[in-house]
Amino acid sequence: MEGAPLSSEDSYQAIDCYMQYLNLKQQLLDKIKARGGWVNAHAHFDRAFTITEKNFHLGSIDFQKKWALNQKIITESTTDQIYDRMALATERMIDQGVYAVSTFIDVNPGVKDRSIKAAQKVREKYKDDIIIKYINQSLQGVIKKEAREWFKVGADFVDIIGGLPSKDAGHEAEHLDILLSTAKKMNKMVHVHVDQLNDPKEQETELLTDKTVTYGMEGKVVAIHSISVGAQPKEYRTQLYKKMNRAGLMVVANPTAYIDDGRKEIMVPSHNSITPVDEMVPEGIVVVLGTDNIADLHKPFTDGDMWIELRVLLEVCRFQDLDQLVNIATVNGRKVLGLID
Ligand SMILES: [Zn+2]
Repeated sequence: MEGAPLSSEDSYQAIDCYMQYLNLKQQLLDKIKARGGWVNAHAHFDRAFTITEKNFHLGSIDFQKKWALNQKIITESTTDQIYDRMALATERMIDQGVYAVSTFIDVNPGVKDRSIKAAQKVREKYKDDIIIKYINQSLQGVIKKEAREWFKVGADFVDIIGGLPSKDAGHEAEHLDILLSTAKKMNKMVHVHVDQLNDPKEQETELLTDKTVTYGMEGKVVAIHSISVGAQPKEYRTQLYKKMNRAGLMVVANPTAYIDDGRKEIMVPSHNSITPVDEMVPEGIVVVLGTDNIADLHKPFTDGDMWIELRVLLEVCRFQDLDQLVNIATVNGRKVLGLID
């Protein structure tokens, strides 16, 4: 387009606009700092930094097979190796001004209590720098006899009871019964991986919501992911959000975790493969931020950068409420870690 050249005043205005863009990120970072710093509400530090030149090519195999390979890596790890990985991930958080983090650690018949021993050392070393809450993970489920024994060992050690119902496929309700009854008895919160596959056949968030009410655990249960909710029809989603609110169910969004969901030939409402934050927050559901896997077989390129996670969340959900974004990155995280009511 033809036009008069920019005057020097116009140039200054253009520079101002550019600086305003830069300040938008800075505004968020400043507000996050003023609210006490980031909270990373979901991670797996014991398997962080396990991507190597040798196993990198396995990044494209399917999800279930990766779980099996992760199980093998963890099973073959020494306490010192697990400690090194956890320490590196923890320092990565401290460097970014993360106030508190909750990380799953594997406790199962393969790794036995080696992650627990590493976790104790990590908490002791960094006790003046960051709050760490541990959550038990069982990649062998919680129902089979030996897995159940190690689940109990993990439950005794951790701050929060953790679960992954799809590892007991076909018995998801029983898996949740074990988690919730254990947590109720021990007066602990519960974090559960649900609806990870962006597939409407999954309805685990609803199952978790119902079980929360059954066990009288309202306000103490946290869903991790709930991505498949976005693949459900609007009527289902609307009803589910109401139920979640009644149950006080909170949700961790891990924006980069499954945004790479592959092409599928199923018909679902158009949406991105992420926790539907844009719908949940206006409904009053507490949503928080997590990094999930860091530099492992699931996410070789994820480096635990909290800003990248928040940026992906706001872009992919087209969610630009700055105050709510700050809440998601800070105080809401304290709620799901049980640090505040
Ligand atoms: Zn996870």
